[in-house]
Amino acid sequence: MKVFKFGGASVNSADAVRNMANIVAAHLGDEPLVVVVSAMGKTTNLLEKLVPAPGQQEADLRQQRQQLEAYHRDIAAALMPGNDGLQRKIDTLLADLDGLCASLPADAEHYNYNYDQVVSHGELLSTTIIADYLNHLGINTQWVDARQVIVTDHHHREGRVDWEATCAKCKLFNDSTKGHQVALTQGFIAATSDMKTTTLGREGSDYSAAILAYCLKAESITIWKDVPGFLNADPKYFSDTVKISQIPYNEAIELAYYGASVIHPKTVKPIQNMGIPLFIRSFITPEAEGSAIGDYRTIVPETPLYIFKNNQILLSILPRDFSFIAEDNLQIIFGILNEVGIKVNLMQNSALSFSICIDNNPQRVGVLIDRLSGLFRVRYNERMQLVTIRYYNQQVIDRIVAGRPVLLEQRSRLTEQLVVPESIIEKR
Ligand code: ASP
Ligand code: MG
Repeated sequence: MKVFKFGGASVNSADAVRNMANIVAAHLGDEPLVVVVSAMGKTTNLLEKLVPAPGQQEADLRQQRQQLEAYHRDIAAALMPGNDGLQRKIDTLLADLDGLCASLPADAEHYNYNYDQVVSHGELLSTTIIADYLNHLGINTQWVDARQVIVTDHHHREGRVDWEATCAKCKLFNDSTKGHQVALTQGFIAATSDMKTTTLGREGSDYSAAILAYCLKAESITIWKDVPGFLNADPKYFSDTVKISQIPYNEAIELAYYGASVIHPKTVKPIQNMGIPLFIRSFITPEAEGSAIGDYRTIVPETPLYIFKNNQILLSILPRDFSFIAEDNLQIIFGILNEVGIKVNLMQNSALSFSICIDNNPQRVGVLIDRLSGLFRVRYNERMQLVTIRYYNQQVIDRIVAGRPVLLEQRSRLTEQLVVPESIIEKR
């Protein structure tokens, strides 16, 4: 059994859905193809605005709700003109959404719960339309509600998977999809054991595909993207990117950890445990080979890999008294970071100061600086760029630094990390 995953960009218009259906049609086999689909285009961002929360503006809500409806109805009508049955299914999903938006308490305390109930409609809408379309093309497709299959705890917006319960439900999934060519389900969404909808975190559809692949013991996963595969750098920054054709599992985990955005960080671990290969291929050039993550010893070709994180803050924390930065102070600093909910992208300490590089989330960083300032002296530099280079050499470091002052540098055998002032984005 194979698992395919299509993200929002691959189904963002009627033409995109036609293209996606062609790819599916070209890969049908004896067993059902498991197809995991995200919400169409930027629907998740739109739905986020509809989540009941304090201070919403009635006029904005009406406009966004209208936009959501028109977008999906237009795609459905373009794919299957006159399919009233499908428009009625869309009616039902939208009525359910409206009911939720009207009845959920618009307070901060319920926000995460509300979020999951509302935002999950993006994937429900996309898969409802696409399942009808595949059947319309004569591809025998079973629509599967991911909430009947993937079980999480009650941690809303970041559900933690109950693997045992999920694998047990996947047995039922197998039975119900027998005899179909495609089992089509939603990425990103899941449910608790008492059937409350949860989500797996933004961009979580890759992870959904990995969960299903693990529990169904799939032979492979293919993630169809708008890039030709895993590139050694974001084409936004580099004009001469290189496609990496083979990536060892551990390398993929490291890269996702450093911020490579091509796959969701949680995706690799489950499939590594099962030895399932993951392919990244382009839905724009579906005949091209793409990249493979699997049981390899090294990346192929061996070339430096670059990961850029912009809008970073470099904070230096210094004791106010005569103390050093040692375990006692570090414990206090990490306690505060944990309470404020800040993830450290890079850290370095000396006797007299402790430096961290973090994302510039203005609210959280403000709270952090307030809390730290009570105990320490805090200095910071804004608009920094954190660059991670795997398989570095001096020449590529010089090319990246390009004369900028390096505020912090950390080097290990394979990885160089640099904090430099952000320059205007220019291709190197
Ligand atoms: N639709 C969700 C998002 O945009 C999940 C995904 O696309 O992976 O975050
Ligand atoms: Mg997406």
